[in-house]
Amino acid sequence: MGNYHTPLDLVRERSVERPVALVRPGVVAVAANWFQAQFKGDIFYAVKANPSPWVIQTLWDNGVRAFDVASIPEIELVRSIAPDARLAYMHPVKSRAAIRRAYHEFGVRTFALDTHEELAKILKETGEARDLNLIVRMAVNTEGAQYTLGGKFGVSAEDAPALLLAARQATEELMGVSFHVGSQCMNPYAYKAAMAQVSRALVRAGVFADVVDVGGGFPSIYPGMQPPELKLYMDAIHTGFEEMMVHETTELWCEPGRALVAEASSILTKVELRKGSSLYLNEGSYGSMFDATHSKWPFPVKLVRDGAASSDVTPFGFFGPTCDSIDHMPGPFFLPDDVDEGDYIEIGMLGAYGVAMATRFNGFGDVETVVVDDAPMASLYGLAPEEPEAAPAVAEAKVVKLSSRSRRRRRRK
Ligand SMILES: *Cc1c(COP(=O)(O)O)cnc(C)c1O
Repeated sequence: MGNYHTPLDLVRERSVERPVALVRPGVVAVAANWFQAQFKGDIFYAVKANPSPWVIQTLWDNGVRAFDVASIPEIELVRSIAPDARLAYMHPVKSRAAIRRAYHEFGVRTFALDTHEELAKILKETGEARDLNLIVRMAVNTEGAQYTLGGKFGVSAEDAPALLLAARQATEELMGVSFHVGSQCMNPYAYKAAMAQVSRALVRAGVFADVVDVGGGFPSIYPGMQPPELKLYMDAIHTGFEEMMVHETTELWCEPGRALVAEASSILTKVELRKGSSLYLNEGSYGSMFDATHSKWPFPVKLVRDGAASSDVTPFGFFGPTCDSIDHMPGPFFLPDDVDEGDYIEIGMLGAYGVAMATRFNGFGDVETVVVDDAPMASLYGLAPEEPEAAPAVAEAKVVKLSSRSRRRRRRK
């Protein structure tokens, strides 16, 4: 990985033909330190958001000790960089072989489940182990999130008590509950509401949870999606935790993905052709721009040109390099109106679910990685030089006033 101060320095030095992932480890460090200072519990980084080795390494170097993994390759990846990391296998549906290897070969002790069948699989494949931490994933109301994850996983409120009881009886170690309010959750109150739902299920089951895992869903900032301050999410969670029926030693966990990495990476792409207000780029839907395509998110963009540019700005749409017509990102992306073939464009805020989603379709997807240390285009951690330009609202954030009162709980390792 080369090092440059800014993307412009890179473009001045050489002409790059492949898309470049511009990575900012310092930004991951800031986010990790913010979460550790503000969240009163244990932080498990959700590896799927960005499994790049530099991300895992930076998190580890900055004190993040636990990782939420969903497959054997993710386990191998984390172990190869941070052999002593604590791993939680939070996918509620695992193959039997994966459960066996996770437990016996990689020392994983924490497993999520949302059915009795999965619980039976975990017990059988670990040889009826008694040292498991069993986390019951519950379905919760996910309105307020840009991506709903509730449809696929989670035991219903109705079926939860029996499963909680079964998990409680299956282990002498930790029995916990988890949920996921949905990704890019714009409403801090969603966490508190979910915790109240979970609490009711625990009361009906007549069991105490040793772990309350509030999952991921913490937002980042994109044009048209300015979320409430992250601090309000922490306040909502801490208040929600206080109001739950838990004992003094109950641990609070979270599994942030997006919020730790979204700001920390962008893509430098080259314009191969301009057709009116459409730019044909060497990066697209099958690369790191999944959300720009399928959710039509208008990511922030910047022209990276060594020279003057028109001060008039025009809305552009982008096409990616493959022959597929779905390889289209409608934007609008606002750029100087003299953008043309040979120009470079930086597309910001692609650190989460960006490079992680890239495929090799049609012979593309080969990306170079370069470290830069300029500021991200937008930041929830106060790192961006200025607010991003206003764009049409994609989602309206509903800010709920919450008490900031919270109480330190004893943490158990
Ligand atoms: C994807 C995922 C996360 C991370 O979600 P973000 O919205 O990126 O914070 C956390 N936990 C689980 C179980 C997930 O599937």
